[in-house]
Amino acid sequence: MLAGRTAPLRLVILGATGSIGRNTLDLVARYPQHFEVAALVAGQDAAGLAELARQTGAGFAALADPSKGEELAAYLAGTGIACGAGEAAVIEAALQPSDMVMAAIVGAAGLRPTFAALEAGRTIALANKECLVCAGDLFTAAAGRAGARVLPVDSEHNAIFQVLESRNLAEVEKIILTASGGPFRTLSLSEMAHVSPQQALKHPNWSMGSRITIDSATLMNKGLEVIEASHLFPLRHEQIEVLVHPQSAIHGMVQYTDGSLLAQLGPPDMRTPIAHCLAWPARMPVPGARLDLAKLGSLTFEAPDIKRFPALGLALDAMRAGGCAPAALNAADEVAVAAFLSGQIGFTGIAGLVGAVLDRLAAGQDLAPAADIDSILALDMQARAVAHELLNRFALT
Ligand code: NAD
Ligand code: MG
Repeated sequence: MLAGRTAPLRLVILGATGSIGRNTLDLVARYPQHFEVAALVAGQDAAGLAELARQTGAGFAALADPSKGEELAAYLAGTGIACGAGEAAVIEAALQPSDMVMAAIVGAAGLRPTFAALEAGRTIALANKECLVCAGDLFTAAAGRAGARVLPVDSEHNAIFQVLESRNLAEVEKIILTASGGPFRTLSLSEMAHVSPQQALKHPNWSMGSRITIDSATLMNKGLEVIEASHLFPLRHEQIEVLVHPQSAIHGMVQYTDGSLLAQLGPPDMRTPIAHCLAWPARMPVPGARLDLAKLGSLTFEAPDIKRFPALGLALDAMRAGGCAPAALNAADEVAVAAFLSGQIGFTGIAGLVGAVLDRLAAGQDLAPAADIDSILALDMQARAVAHELLNRFALT
């Protein structure tokens, strides 16, 4: 058993077929005696989800796509694994009895199932940063009401969580999220206008899902992470800093009021922060490469350049504006990244489109704080519609 436990950890994985989901399942497969898979959720991939459910002996499997229910049931015939499709099935999966829910759906699609698990008091291992970006105040309030614990999976936040442990935030001067700078760290804006999706999908250090990989290239991801951090670690906005660190060896740092700067380092392998959450407050072994500092030789740092990476500036502005600005930013970015990947707009059009959507919605005074998830998801839909409407302005000719 994991240290301190008398029974296997019952796990629900939302987003099981994705990058975080598969990294989580890699650890589960290595230590089967420590885990029991209560439920697995994916978006559309019936064959992929069924295979994972069979391998893990999951109790329940659910696909978000309601048209895929029969296909999933056919793949699982004879296994005794219960399954379903559509939003209700996804919520049912999220609410299966469990000790921890790995929230690793990509995008705002993760909000409802993660909130359902949170409101039921489940411990959430949070990879889906969109929950905090779009609905951070509601998320924090719901966690407080339900007495649910939230463990940060995102590597930078996990690093800061590891460094902070139970320290008093009053002793913290600032926290620092590192950013690799992405594949275009040294390019000029005009050079970036011509980069292809293939080039943008080649992250220098990490292997991740496509949306977060593109967001890492624009630095939108780091902006979303600053917003995420502002909810996880309630500090003043000025106390959250971004530092470009191309080697991705240091993931996060905390500077205390006495001037001490403490960092967490590790290999660029998401299994490390995932394992930290799974085993917390104990540790579990993770196989694989270790950081070889002698081989790295030097660690370098530079300040982020908001002129060349305007997406970061847009995210920081949205955080300061508050209300639904971060939710609109996220929705517009989801549309913009998809449009870039499908060749409709260029790389620099991503920030262009997101900025235009935010301007339009701010001018219409549509970004006031929302009282509930339904209102946030309605605003999310509105921002997506505006993004589609404005897409032509940034279309590649
Ligand atoms: P991914 O694209 O690899 O996987 C996404 C998963 O979500 C898949 O299982 C997919 O089937 C599922 N999904 C998609 N739409 C869905 C829907 N409507 N309903 C239910 N499931 C749906 O993404 P990823 O890289 O694993 O990222 C997942 C989340 O974790 C994101 O929020 C991302 O920002 C965050 N994150 C990822 C990494 C990483 O290393 N990949 C690191 C830090 C944070
Ligand atoms: Mg991160």
